Amino acid sequence: MPQLTPLQAALFADLRDRRLYDSAQEYAHDYLATVVDRESFPTREALAGLSHFDEKLPEATGSATDILDQLQAFGAPAAVPTLGGRYFGFVTGGVVPVGLAVKHLTSYWDQNSSMRIMSPVAAKLEDVVQGWLRELFGLSESTVAGFVSGTSVANLCALASARYRLLLRQGWDVNERGLMGAPPLRIVTGREAHSSVKKALLVLGLGVAQIEWVDCDTEGRLRAAALPELDDTTLLILQAGNVNSGAFDPFAAVCERARAAGAWIHVDGAFGLWAGASERLRHLTQGMELAHSWAVDGHKTLNTPYDSGIVLCADAEALAAALHMAAGYLVLDQDRDGMFYTPEMSRRARVFELWAIMKYLGRAGIDALVTGLHDRARQFADELSALDGFSVLNEVVFNQVVVACATDELTEATLNRIQELRECWVGGSVWRDRRVIRVSVCSWATTAADVTRSVAAFRRALRDVRATGAGASA
Ligand SMILES: *Cc1c(COP(=O)(O)O)cnc(C)c1O
Repeated sequence: MPQLTPLQAALFADLRDRRLYDSAQEYAHDYLATVVDRESFPTREALAGLSHFDEKLPEATGSATDILDQLQAFGAPAAVPTLGGRYFGFVTGGVVPVGLAVKHLTSYWDQNSSMRIMSPVAAKLEDVVQGWLRELFGLSESTVAGFVSGTSVANLCALASARYRLLLRQGWDVNERGLMGAPPLRIVTGREAHSSVKKALLVLGLGVAQIEWVDCDTEGRLRAAALPELDDTTLLILQAGNVNSGAFDPFAAVCERARAAGAWIHVDGAFGLWAGASERLRHLTQGMELAHSWAVDGHKTLNTPYDSGIVLCADAEALAAALHMAAGYLVLDQDRDGMFYTPEMSRRARVFELWAIMKYLGRAGIDALVTGLHDRARQFADELSALDGFSVLNEVVFNQVVVACATDELTEATLNRIQELRECWVGGSVWRDRRVIRVSVCSWATTAADVTRSVAAFRRALRDVRATGAGASA
């Protein structure tokens, strides 16, 4: 009998210690039981408790249950309750419960979804979800999906595909020859493009200085009339869902023209692409199916757990070529291997949660989820507009509400006070040169009562600010 090393003895003991996994489960249940009623941001004490983690790397091997207990004691209180109904910061998203359960179960499987042979079950579900996404968004049969960490990476993959295809058309194989000396590409996008688009362009060596910026209207939509002449060396980047106002670029007016000119059209639809799954909101994305690539998140509007993003590309060959990696030990399968459509090789099988949530909600449930976010955002805007002292600055076409008080100073002070009250959590932004409060309704858990309660916190915050004279300088 081979002897176990002391470390192996400890690890085998942990592996078989049911209490370890039971306490994780119990702590998880505790969190879920209270998260909806929690204050919408960790308390000062909870944040101070994080100093518990300041320690040197321990010398000796520790106790697994002790580690779990410490995370429960000092980590859980400092967790931001984005699962609840009154967190409106950034564009985040809650979690559909079956996604949590499936993530929990499948994390024990510890699957690597790089190749079919490494995880047939993950590969199978990637096939299935790819088909469902095509159908839901009305995309062509040739469209392939890469399952990545988020829209930042999805944008990067899509723009790499565009770079590959547009250069190859000019007789330049960028994989072989690189960018030095390559024929020029044109990049056209709206002034309101998301920062992750710019990041992808600079990572791809395309730079940002030569972008042809197109003016936007007051909602942040690219103005179709301001679009320059396009050609077959052009990469046109459009947006479904402006990160402040939620506005959508005018796809119908632009895509046909861009197609005819031979341009590559990419749509950054991190949260907004899901409008295409709502009967009532579908008009916002009309025409986007004419694009060549799309980036969308699971973890925002669809409420999958983090992290989950998807690149969709109608030109499968361009996507695979852009991310291609060859090595002798790779087993090429006739069926799809996930890693050919993602930059990573080893990759967690995030498709499990995505599959589970899409299967659970079904077409009707996805529609109800997306449409519900819009309803709550409309309610937020209506109730705030009815209050003295707040104005809603955007057309609430999707889930975003942009709010301001009479002056920047008052807006800033009121925002700070709302955050102190912790009844709801909202963040700040700048919109049309004004300081604003940005409300993003992203969780299925936000109820009509949550909105009313949050609006009451806005009112109280402004009253407090006025009473103390803060923000009164203007
Ligand atoms: C959130 C967002 C991104 C980035 O997505 P991540 O999933 O955070 O990487 C890109 N574009 C838009 C419009 C977004 O809202």
